[in-house]
Amino acid sequence: MSTALTGTTALVTGASGGIGAATALSLAAQGANVALAARRKDRLDELVERIKADGGTALAIETDITDRTQATAMIEQTVAAFGGLDTLVNNAGIMLLGPAESAPIEEWDRMIALNVQGLLYATHAALPHLLAAAEGPRATADIVNISSLAGRVPIAGSAVYSLTKHGVGAFTEALRQEVTGRHVRVSLIEPGPVATELFTNIRPEILEASKDAYANATLLHAEDIADTITYVVTRPARVVMSELLVRPDASQW
Ligand code: NDP
Repeated sequence: MSTALTGTTALVTGASGGIGAATALSLAAQGANVALAARRKDRLDELVERIKADGGTALAIETDITDRTQATAMIEQTVAAFGGLDTLVNNAGIMLLGPAESAPIEEWDRMIALNVQGLLYATHAALPHLLAAAEGPRATADIVNISSLAGRVPIAGSAVYSLTKHGVGAFTEALRQEVTGRHVRVSLIEPGPVATELFTNIRPEILEASKDAYANATLLHAEDIADTITYVVTRPARVVMSELLVRPDASQW
């Protein structure tokens, strides 16, 4: 059966859990060959088996995208396995919260290394392949960058996370202007709070101090963002969903 993404190849970073895993499943269900990248290979292998059991095609690539050599190899391995690249979902990210004053500066380094540099390495290596794919019969290719509500609205206690996601937004729009004439769509998704493991990396004292803010908040599901990403990359080639803010219902966020 032919579905919207049959015959295309997608690479999802941060596919070992949360939004990335849900997105890999969703794109595979639409017929894409899916490359799954993250550091935890055991989780990627499980997801590959699940996709294959559902009749899909998937490949696990153990990668730390903060390492430029590994990020480049991830793209090359995908292209070697599937013959090209149509969709790059730059999803891998980390959120380490807390006031800037007295923050462990190593947390800032980690967020900049992954949320900014990792995304840039993956994008740079992928661009020639995406531009080539857009010259093919489908006449389009996609980069989908996962930002955050914090990439639209700076939030106290999230200064450097907000900085990284605002940077992703700026890069996304500038890159869109550069490549839209060659039919590569560059899109930004800004989720509000989603129930994933993202919050488990936050220092316990910071989580405790911010629990009231989240106490009654509705949380989105990873599948809600996967749906959004799948919608974006299955529009007709003439339609570019350049920016989407996805908020939960009944929530200040
Ligand atoms: P998770 O913590 O569930 O997933 C993060 C993913 O990133 C994991 O698969 C992890 O895999 C991967 N990752 C972490 N470090 C690296 C690395 N060095 N190299 C490669 N992959 C890495 O979080 P979410 O699914 O929630 O987050 C996905 C994206 O969504 C992030 O960019 C986040 O900022 C954004 N977002 C999330 C929101 C939320 O409330 N959850 C709200 C707004 C935006 P592994 O550890 O195996 O490498």
